[in-house]
Amino acid sequence: MKFLNLSQSLAERDSLGETRQREVLQSAQGRKISLGGQTYVNFASNDYLGLAALESTQSSVLELLPSTGVGSGASHMICGHHQLHELFEHQLAGFLQRQAALTFTCGYMANLAVLQALARKGDLLISDKLNHASLIDGAQLSQADSKRYPHCDLTALENRLKRSSQNTFVVTDSVFSMDGDIAPLTEIAELCDKYNALLIVDDAHGFGVLGTNGQGCCEHFQLNQQQVPVLMSTFGKALGGFGAAVSGEKILIDYLIQFARSYIYTTALPPMIAAVNLHHLQVLMNGPERVNKLRQNIAYFQQLCLQQKIPLLASSTAIQPVVVGDNQTVLRLGERLRAYGVLVGTIRPPTVPPNSARIRITLTSEHLKSDIEQLVNALDKCLQQNDQN
Ligand SMILES: *Cc1c(COP(=O)(O)O)cnc(C)c1O
Repeated sequence: MKFLNLSQSLAERDSLGETRQREVLQSAQGRKISLGGQTYVNFASNDYLGLAALESTQSSVLELLPSTGVGSGASHMICGHHQLHELFEHQLAGFLQRQAALTFTCGYMANLAVLQALARKGDLLISDKLNHASLIDGAQLSQADSKRYPHCDLTALENRLKRSSQNTFVVTDSVFSMDGDIAPLTEIAELCDKYNALLIVDDAHGFGVLGTNGQGCCEHFQLNQQQVPVLMSTFGKALGGFGAAVSGEKILIDYLIQFARSYIYTTALPPMIAAVNLHHLQVLMNGPERVNKLRQNIAYFQQLCLQQKIPLLASSTAIQPVVVGDNQTVLRLGERLRAYGVLVGTIRPPTVPPNSARIRITLTSEHLKSDIEQLVNALDKCLQQNDQN
């Protein structure tokens, strides 16, 4: 295509072993899925609480359909802000113990919104090196200065804060999506307090997973709205729906409604999806059974890996990576695991740093003990086979 030289870029990517493939999913998300014509026990999705295909949701959404329609038809500002969006925002704010919440079409858009609208020219954003791509892109979109600190390094963060004379934001994931570890938010919040910086936390993998009731990172660390003034939660992962929300003081929400471009200039999330989110939030509010079940499955997986001496990263969340290093090796391992009937994520650069390709295992509340045993046995065999080659 004219001057673009697309084939060269594609060939370069290929020569690095970094080309990604899409495979066709022929079933709903769940404990077992049909992908590319094969059935696997699924350890690759972010559907941590097994809600993505919940039957009771399907019937309740069908019932609501005449009053929601399918498309939302307009942005929130014009005439697309449905009563179900409104209700969901209220319930969510209550669940998260925050004054108010604002729903976005997805987490990517919410992160762009927050950074673009809050950080201005002359301000400083200090971000964890391993933050999600959407936060990196949001930092670029805001015209603020941008610095990164080594992953979860509190000393480096404090040094940056000490040196800053600008209005400063600290931006971090709560649970890092490719490592599964949790940011030390108590200490980060203290540093923000000490240096008068404003903390922005992306809780995409914490919401529904962390905390006794699955409220997320703030419940886990017992942090209030003052300590984490800008909290972003997403609904396409543990909540098994779609969309995202920013929550905090009412004035923050009022401001975002006026100034967040990726909130204003886009079609509202279909209200039927708001109904799905609402239904699943109700499931969470009815009790932490699924959250507890997930936690038990994580513990069981870790226990079996310890017995088999499978080297895991230090993660206590649903994301359990095994770092392999080389791109071809990780792809080969993924294929071999499939032969044992288990599907895992195979993550390569540029999603993760060079030479840190990894198997990304995700656990859900729906896995049976026997599934986890099947996975660990397969991992053990495949990793040994790998050592011999
Ligand atoms: C998935 C993810 C997002 C994006 O959320 P979507 O709703 O999928 O757009 C943002 N941040 C983190 C850390 C994520 O893992």
